[in-house]
Amino acid sequence: MATKTVLLTGASGFIALHTLDQLLKRNYTVIGTVRSQDKADNITTQFKKDYPNAQLTFAIVEDIGAPGAFNKVFQDHPEIEGVLHTASPVSFGLNEDLKDTYFTPATEGTRNVLEAIQTYGKSVKNVVVTSSLAAVINGNKIGDKTFIHTEETWNPITWEDVNTGLEAYVASKTLAEKLARKFADEKKPSWTLTTINPPFVLGPQKLEFSLTNKTLNTSAEIVNELLYSDPNDTHFFDAPLGTFIDVRDAALVHVLPLENENLSGKRLIPIQDVYNGQKLLNIINKTFPELEGKIAKGSPENADRHAEESNIYYDTSKTLEWTGIKSWITLEESVKDSVRQILDYRSKH
Ligand code: NAP
Repeated sequence: MATKTVLLTGASGFIALHTLDQLLKRNYTVIGTVRSQDKADNITTQFKKDYPNAQLTFAIVEDIGAPGAFNKVFQDHPEIEGVLHTASPVSFGLNEDLKDTYFTPATEGTRNVLEAIQTYGKSVKNVVVTSSLAAVINGNKIGDKTFIHTEETWNPITWEDVNTGLEAYVASKTLAEKLARKFADEKKPSWTLTTINPPFVLGPQKLEFSLTNKTLNTSAEIVNELLYSDPNDTHFFDAPLGTFIDVRDAALVHVLPLENENLSGKRLIPIQDVYNGQKLLNIINKTFPELEGKIAKGSPENADRHAEESNIYYDTSKTLEWTGIKSWITLEESVKDSVRQILDYRSKH
């Protein structure tokens, strides 16, 4: 029996590889876009081990921001019914032109995929765009207990506010999501739009080859870099501070809109917990006694102390209600699984 065909953009990414796993587990036919044939071959080889009958092919899209980037994919595949647009640059502090590095691929990439769907994607029913919690958090309200961030909240940032790589990322994600929503409002397409607004996404890599480099993708690196911390460091690791979801849950939330019409038009903000560097270190030190004397202990008793002025206050009850999800993978499980995977990989190689 033919199964629903889903296009997954940026299929080589951290979240996307887990999303690909969820899609194949659920028997979808998947077309991934990647930037090189090598990546396509590598991902195919790895996934065929778990899913020998997987209906998985790839299209090469070298630059999502180039005009017409997705036209050929939709011309070649009129059978695509679902689109998960995850591709977007994720690295803060790059010493390059901020507009070229972040803004153009994020916004033009989103416009390109939506225009290609409108023109050629005659079978498309559901479109899911990966936005970010960055598009939800109002930077002027951080630390304000009276301001509760929800599925309705928007970051007021504009491109004119941008001075740093982090701000460029935040603005690009916000403006790309606004562009997608405006497109759907104005064109009144025959497909539904859902955006996913994850916080920092931590957790293990889906495929081992993602562990080849000493540094990992931007968000997984938050845990990895603690494994290189100074064992004599006893300061309170109040930074990094952020909200968290495990990558396997972030992936699941991407797939649900293909199957649940309640999620049409919605913004989903999956958040499990708040972390700081100390909380992560405490989990690592408690779970992996073999790291004693090799990584920092920091100031363990301070883990629950967050600077009030840096907290964000949020309510994700609508996301839970709409998705029917009862619980998320915890920070503790997520960190354990990530560190176990990194240590195993290091001892093998
Ligand atoms: P990732 O591992 O860096 O994946 C990003 C993907 O996008 C990669 O496949 C990358 O291809 C592709 N890509 C980037 N720029 C491109 C371009 N100009 N042309 C073609 N492909 C391009 O990042 P991730 O953490 O999985 O993030 C995936 C999505 O989730 C992004 O939209 C990100 O903004 C969003 N998000 C992530 C987090 C987080 O904490 N990780 C939180 C909120 C939202 P290459 O691998 O070839 O470079």
